[in-house]
Amino acid sequence: DMKNILVTGGAGYIGSHVVQELLKRDYTVVTLDNLSKGHRGAVVGGVFVQGDCGNSMLVGELVKQHQINAVVHLAADSLVGESMTRPDKYCRNNLGNGIEFLTALVDAGVRQFILSSTAAVYGEPEYTPIDEAHPTRPVNVYGGTKLMLEQILGWYEHAYGLRFVALRYFNAAGADPGGNIGEDHNPETHLIPLVMQAALGKREKVTILGTNYPTPDGTCLRDYIHVSDLAVAHVLALEALQAGEPSAVYNLGNEQGHSVREVVDTVRRVTGRDFTVEEGPPREGDPAVLVASSRKIKDCLKWQPRYGELEEIVRTAWAWHSNHPDGYQS
Ligand code: UDP
Repeated sequence: DMKNILVTGGAGYIGSHVVQELLKRDYTVVTLDNLSKGHRGAVVGGVFVQGDCGNSMLVGELVKQHQINAVVHLAADSLVGESMTRPDKYCRNNLGNGIEFLTALVDAGVRQFILSSTAAVYGEPEYTPIDEAHPTRPVNVYGGTKLMLEQILGWYEHAYGLRFVALRYFNAAGADPGGNIGEDHNPETHLIPLVMQAALGKREKVTILGTNYPTPDGTCLRDYIHVSDLAVAHVLALEALQAGEPSAVYNLGNEQGHSVREVVDTVRRVTGRDFTVEEGPPREGDPAVLVASSRKIKDCLKWQPRYGELEEIVRTAWAWHSNHPDGYQS
């Protein structure tokens, strides 16, 4: 059945928003998540199965039992800093389990696949905004594992006729305006939730990681994209595959770079709260500037962001964090 979708990592931050968007559009969703990072409470509907996407027996059974037609694969480790000190973990979880998963899907007859990929596949930009034709030379292990999975998908397409869309996210942020799901990592390492925690008084201070980058204010520029806009893109990608469109790779960003200082200032303004900000050394594996061109997905899939401004992204994040100061435990 075209409407039966398996979502791995559906209990995670982006995954839970994807599941919610699919349910809104009357898809039947099976979420597979091992809850290593995700939250059971983040899965708002459909069937939930706790397990590993690298468990090929389980994956084969799920595909058969629920007549799965297409897969959205978000389950992965995704921390740039950690990937540099624990490459083994990233290779095993993202690549090893990813390959097991793909193989089980192909064996079970699934031929449509959406991959959660990342701007980290590009590495240090040679020009900006970054389009999909930009060279891919990842400078961190995380980006390396995602790029390899994209390449493996290409080989599987050639051999098995699997069609795929890889969505290269820039910086996912914000929360569903409905207020029931949002960002909750432990430990938290992402800028916007960290600044929110400082604004809530739950964290002593925020550290700016690097102030000597070749950018206007010396801090990194990132392209923040609202998680609900990301979620919609997954549905559009799925519809394209189901309509018989060929495999493709798309960037997803808002085509605007915001510095770390700008994010901090925006949070101060939106929340009306003040907090301590200190300056620290840069984090390994962080490029100075990551700004997307999203022209391709706008042209090909008619994707349009609804929450394109940093201020709106921060406002929706604040609504979530101020109502859920302890995340899903609140
Ligand atoms: N960052 C920071 N302080 C922190 C966490 C992050 O200055 O405590 C910076 C980080 O160096 C990067 C940007 O904020 O330039 C976004 O980082 P995040 O971890 O949110 O996302 P990533 O770019 O790693 O996906």
